Amino acid sequence: LTFTANQNMEVAEWAFHLGGSGQYTPQDCFPEGTVISFDNMSLVDLTSDENDYPEQEVWQRADILTNQLGYFSGRAKRATLLTDSDKETEFQLKDASGSSVYSGKTKIFGFDEDSGDNVQVIDFTDFTGEGTFYLETSDGAQSREFNIGGSSEYSSMLYDSLNYFYQNRSGIPIESQFISSGDTSALARAAGHPTDMAEIEQTWGYSGTSGSIDVTGGWYDAGDHGKYVVNGGFSLWMMQNQYETAVKYGFEDVYADGTMLIPECSNSYPDLLDEARWEMEWMFSMIVDSGEYEGMVYHKAHDEKWTALGIAPADDDMKRIVKPPTTAATLNFAACAAQASRLWKGIDDDFSKKCLEAAERSYEAAKAHPDMLAPLDESIGGGAYGDTDVEDEFYWAAMELFITTGNEDYYDETTDSQFFLDVPTTLGGGESVDTVGSFDWGNTALLGTFSAALNPDSFDKGDVEIIGDAFAKAADHYIEMEENQGYGVPYGQSTLSYNDSDKGYIWGSNSFVADNSIVMAYSYLLSGDEKYLDGAIGGMDYLLGRNAMDYSYVTGYGTHTTENPHYRYWANQVDAAFPKAPCGVMAGGPNSGMQDPWVQGSGWKKG
Ligand code: CA
Ligand code: CA
Repeated sequence: LTFTANQNMEVAEWAFHLGGSGQYTPQDCFPEGTVISFDNMSLVDLTSDENDYPEQEVWQRADILTNQLGYFSGRAKRATLLTDSDKETEFQLKDASGSSVYSGKTKIFGFDEDSGDNVQVIDFTDFTGEGTFYLETSDGAQSREFNIGGSSEYSSMLYDSLNYFYQNRSGIPIESQFISSGDTSALARAAGHPTDMAEIEQTWGYSGTSGSIDVTGGWYDAGDHGKYVVNGGFSLWMMQNQYETAVKYGFEDVYADGTMLIPECSNSYPDLLDEARWEMEWMFSMIVDSGEYEGMVYHKAHDEKWTALGIAPADDDMKRIVKPPTTAATLNFAACAAQASRLWKGIDDDFSKKCLEAAERSYEAAKAHPDMLAPLDESIGGGAYGDTDVEDEFYWAAMELFITTGNEDYYDETTDSQFFLDVPTTLGGGESVDTVGSFDWGNTALLGTFSAALNPDSFDKGDVEIIGDAFAKAADHYIEMEENQGYGVPYGQSTLSYNDSDKGYIWGSNSFVADNSIVMAYSYLLSGDEKYLDGAIGGMDYLLGRNAMDYSYVTGYGTHTTENPHYRYWANQVDAAFPKAPCGVMAGGPNSGMQDPWVQGSGWKKG
């Protein structure tokens, strides 16, 4: 429809008038049950380019969903075919010129409950050639192009993903020379919160302030300018664990000095430990240094109120606040510092010693204050990150301290725990009800058992066997899940949250896909059984495109990727003055809770 305005108007309205029984219509002209739908409406000004309507990308998902980045030639290779057919069909693997190089039959799967799709599975594991290929069925269904072969794209993704942490550093300017991808000059930015003085809130409940504290440094959270001990520490622990795993299995060269783009890339220390130390040093600033709670650690530091998207850290002038110390944050610090101590030993002995002393002091402080819990619902200006169950943190911290010190007293404190050498596959503490996962920032017990798995010399033979069996059992469980999922994902629906009994994929579902894959990867390392490696690859395939959304959830890696993760500074979609995200950033993933106000405003409902 085209119309021409015949006069100038300050304000015009485009309205739809629908009849129905009510104030202006005497009778109901739409029988009960009538559905009125609007779709893809636009008001386009054809005479001026002042307010050009950005044409939406016309995009349809592929008929065959694959890992978009690449398969390894010698490993499992699976894809998912969208089809209403209940008969198996022939598929062909074709090279870039359209020549068939391999063929086989699809496997019937049927209705995939999590996606609502009817699917079949394509397995081309037996093909071991290398190059660029696509899949096609005899019915004409096609996949996008993907690679089989080298691992160079994965190496590149590894370093870009690690660079995420440098670009999230608070307190120093982010320089283009250390940015590994994207528009490096636009991504470079002034230091955010170069002096981060925050007002201490002595009690929960937004009241009672006393004094302030310097919390300069650390990493910002994923989407805002908060700095949270419990999930920042979780990320720090994962990074240190990544290094410890590399040392144990002999590939620490991947993270040696000079391998990462960071300001500390020529200081002789391993770069991965340097990046982790940026957060470790910040955590020291969160320790209560005197009084009744000496050695306890403040839970989090963040803005007093929420800021909007499209703000540079340096322009964030919101008042900063620090929340009270908690048992969870204190034990998280103790665990990370104990782990740091053994990794830095022989590299920087002074720092190693400092970390261990602080870890032991904080562990004792947590034992003296075992029930200072962060409430689940204090999320004004920063994420809640509440945790009302710290039995897991006690186990984790004691395990790290035992491995680092060899002191049997710490070991004795782990053996009574329900988590002792266990690998859970359902999480039920704090925010979680029955999450399909083994660990996250609030359910940290397995982190202690991961460290135990990497340090078998600290344990007797019986314990080592228990650890190996526990990992195998959990990994078998995730492989079984993959086989029962149309998209091969080692994850599934659960209760959404402690305050939302609906079922679905929870906030950050992709993190559980990745973390459950880590459990399978560990089982491979401990047992040498390659089915666990293929299981971990199944999780990777899902994250990189073999999913119902036809998205690679990692920016820059794949043929149809996430581009606009929720982020204050990489807010180009909101304001062109801001840069797009760099490569290597993973999105949180499908989220049935639909907490996003924009999604709610567009009319979507849970379920
Ligand atoms: Ca270095
Ligand atoms: Ca916990």
